[in-house]
Amino acid sequence: MDFKLFTDLIKEGNLEVAPPKPIKITDLTPRDGQQCKLATRVRTDDLLPLCEKMDKAGFYAVEVWGGATFDVCLRYLKEDPWERLKRIKEVMPNTKLQMLFRGQNIVGYKPKSDKVVKKFVEKSIEHGITVFRVFDSLNDNRNIEVAVKAIKEFGGEVHAEISYTKSPVHTLEKWMSYVDELIDLEPHWICFKDATGILMPEEVYNIIRGIKKKVGDKIPVVLHNHDMSGTAIMNHMMAILAGVDMVDTVLSPLAFGSSHPATESVVAALQGTPYDTGLDLKILDELAEITREIKKKYKKYETEYAGVNAKVLIHKIPGGMISNMVAQLMEANALDKMDEALEEVPNVERDLGYPPLLTPSSQIVGVQAVLNVISGERYKIITKEVRDYVEGKYGRPPGPLSKELVEKILGPGKEPDFSIRAGDLADKEEWDKAYNEVKLILNREPTDEEVLLMVLFPLQAKEFLIAREKGELTTLPPDVVEPKEMKADSIENVAPVEFEITYHGDKFKVKIEGVSPDQDPSKPRKFYINVNGKLEEVQLTPLAVTLVGKSGFAVSQAAAGQSSARPRPEKPGDVAPPMPGKVSKILVNVGDKVTKGQVVAMVEAMKMENEIHSPIDGVVKEIYAKVGDNITPDETLIRIEPQ
Ligand code: MN
Repeated sequence: MDFKLFTDLIKEGNLEVAPPKPIKITDLTPRDGQQCKLATRVRTDDLLPLCEKMDKAGFYAVEVWGGATFDVCLRYLKEDPWERLKRIKEVMPNTKLQMLFRGQNIVGYKPKSDKVVKKFVEKSIEHGITVFRVFDSLNDNRNIEVAVKAIKEFGGEVHAEISYTKSPVHTLEKWMSYVDELIDLEPHWICFKDATGILMPEEVYNIIRGIKKKVGDKIPVVLHNHDMSGTAIMNHMMAILAGVDMVDTVLSPLAFGSSHPATESVVAALQGTPYDTGLDLKILDELAEITREIKKKYKKYETEYAGVNAKVLIHKIPGGMISNMVAQLMEANALDKMDEALEEVPNVERDLGYPPLLTPSSQIVGVQAVLNVISGERYKIITKEVRDYVEGKYGRPPGPLSKELVEKILGPGKEPDFSIRAGDLADKEEWDKAYNEVKLILNREPTDEEVLLMVLFPLQAKEFLIAREKGELTTLPPDVVEPKEMKADSIENVAPVEFEITYHGDKFKVKIEGVSPDQDPSKPRKFYINVNGKLEEVQLTPLAVTLVGKSGFAVSQAAAGQSSARPRPEKPGDVAPPMPGKVSKILVNVGDKVTKGQVVAMVEAMKMENEIHSPIDGVVKEIYAKVGDNITPDETLIRIEPQ
């Protein structure tokens, strides 16, 4: 390095401080803040009052959109993400709206073709986005080139990101080489980002100073620093001394821990100094008040992993990834293996060449680590994503891959080839295919926005568009109590929540999804009941009640989950998924001959596609599910019989 590092400067008693200037603030509450603390579940209706007020606060930009927004809107909230953006822009005419953009993966989990990337950028700007935080989770900057060019072409603002991680291959030299690559792309800003929250102040000083030495006053620099280990606000100060131009913050009710330092804290700390942000604490307090109400309403989405947890310094796993792993283990009924799974993460990270743990590499690593643990053998089941990763479909990993894993996937003596850009390996026909599919569903010319939803989230978009077309978009209000959340100690008072009823010879599969929290027995209570896969709202006014006793029809959760029409896997040829998920592909037909280890179906779980292999040589006897069905490890998906 051609500059002295923090420790040497301090020892010499000569810490260099960049010339002071007012610090700019980008507030992330409506996207990153609510993603970290409330699982992205806040609906547009509840965000709008906050956004409207934020428009008057004077932030450099406000982050309102990102990958998780799309996913959660379609999967859970049944909202159109494009509509959300349009409505937010209507109440924020004076503020630059920011989105997080996963480079060639856009807002999804897989690299898309250049055409899709460009179309998405064009439409996002049309709906109100100005600032694009663009990153590639491997820091393979070939994966952001197309997006960067498109953003400039359509008049947006490029904030090119470098994603931090700690590993043997990520040295200060490596960070500086990434800076050089970004400078070549001529972004409007450079963003240094720690999505996990493991950066320490000394390193921040060295890195930010290094970047500033390279870019001078030509390209301003922003620090995005999650706070999992509790050091982020120290990092902010250090970055400011080293010359950073802007820091990212979140309003206090959703700040700190898995999220970011509080906007109010940072503004107050700099007030009256040469770094004064110029923001008004009174207005910020009003914004915090609204945010506090949102937090109350969405209380049930708060997780115990959202606070400061210095354990992150040991396992280095970002909060979002941990909650995904917890959910996945819970579904597989193996939550007791959490510690084992956390310990497995660094092994998978190393085998995959130390990718920073951001979407999609965090999912790729997390799901594989969980599979390695629950299947009882490392890489016994390999996800399609890990295969694609090793085949170079995501880009060039930062370090070398495990030889063993490469040979297992590519064959003996084979080497991975990372010379081709991920976008060039993406399906070129995907736009046209999605266009035709949407046209078929809607029976009219689809809009570009609808086609983009289909390209990015095929399963969810299909469900969403069909339901919207029929006027059947329903979802649970946030304060509804889900029966699943009942504690085991109240088990003697429970009644079945999932069952089949036969009425005049017709069979209905019924699941009680939620109950309104209203406890007044004289008033009607809202029940959310799923009948044959369709969510209905039912008003129920009790006229007479009875106590459900121990010997009554109380059932345990486990028993309730087994009311499936599919047989339990019993024979060696019964194929079941390793974890609950949605069937995304069936690759065989009844009567087909299959060989042991052949991929017979794909099941999507935790946003990853998992290959389902035939356990034996034989013939497909029966297929019990179709694409789109939900299936659990207790259910046989395909029955294969030996010949
Ligand atoms: Mn973030």
